[in-house]
Amino acid sequence: MSQPDNLKDTKVLKHFTHLKESIKNLQSPISIELHPSNKCNLNCQDCGYRALLSYHGNEKTFCMIPKEKLLELAEQFKNLNVKAITISGGGESCLNPALPEFLQKLQEYNIKYGIVTNGVFMNEKVLNEIVKGEYVRFSLYTDETLEQLQSTLKHIKSLIELKEKTKTNCIIGAALLIDVLDYKETGEIVKELNNLNLSYISFRPKEYLNRKLDNRNWDEPIDYLKKIEIKHSHNLEDLKRRISELHEVKNYSACLSLHLTSHIDANGNVYPCCEQTGNKKYLMGNIFDNTFEEIWKSEKYDSLRKDLNAKTCPYCRYNLKNITLHKALKNEINLTDFEKDTKHAHADFL
Ligand code: SF4
Repeated sequence: MSQPDNLKDTKVLKHFTHLKESIKNLQSPISIELHPSNKCNLNCQDCGYRALLSYHGNEKTFCMIPKEKLLELAEQFKNLNVKAITISGGGESCLNPALPEFLQKLQEYNIKYGIVTNGVFMNEKVLNEIVKGEYVRFSLYTDETLEQLQSTLKHIKSLIELKEKTKTNCIIGAALLIDVLDYKETGEIVKELNNLNLSYISFRPKEYLNRKLDNRNWDEPIDYLKKIEIKHSHNLEDLKRRISELHEVKNYSACLSLHLTSHIDANGNVYPCCEQTGNKKYLMGNIFDNTFEEIWKSEKYDSLRKDLNAKTCPYCRYNLKNITLHKALKNEINLTDFEKDTKHAHADFL
């Protein structure tokens, strides 16, 4: 059987049996994305999170999940047999002083974690715990002051040294937002990153407030990236794919990811995914009112899994996973061809 061209995220097939079972009889999520903090130490003009909230007609708050609730959540995740937690923002996760203890709890419960951070603030306690995770992705922004950028670079360096010293398997990479206006500044950041021993650099298109339709011409930024020296592994085809997906309507209605993953924001609100955070229509409950399990198993969530029409959803990082899962459900792919992908170390992060 020949493989379809757009089959680009196949690690998710590790959970295909779980998905089929869950469609019949709801199972636990495999992974959860959690925002421990909405506070941030940057104030980027085109903050992706603010853009998302604005798209959903909502505004950013500046709260953090308190320590007791984070530790309680870790226990709830263990009891539900959740495999992996993606820690991101919202704001900047490392500003939550309880983060190290939360990560220690996840280690104790054998739950994998990865963290997305701007890296501006990191103390020794945070570095010591994040290095034991599966990955750390540093997001660097052109809106950072020079001082903030230097602070992030210093922390990347410290983390790489710590990883080498403690011999952990943490994948340390960097993500850069690219835009048609300031792509040369992004190029300056790449030059700095070339001096560090990172595993990869990835590029993502900057999204404007309200995710409004735009007619940006990406030829120049992409040509520029092709010409500059990028020492680390990177994939410009992936950037092009992300750009083309920005305003594409999905070609399926059922979001199968709703059986495998969920999202909790720093207000304690539970949404089906990070892309729907702030969308009151898809607010499933709040962890300060109910346990996560009660919310996950609620009738409201169940109806959403059945009724949500993905064609009305914005650009989302679950698109490639959904495409793969739909093809598997329709028997359009040969599962045995993807056994190697399903053994990927990060297959549990959805
Ligand atoms: S299709 Fe994407 S945005 Fe819509 S619910 Fe599913 S994961 Fe979220």
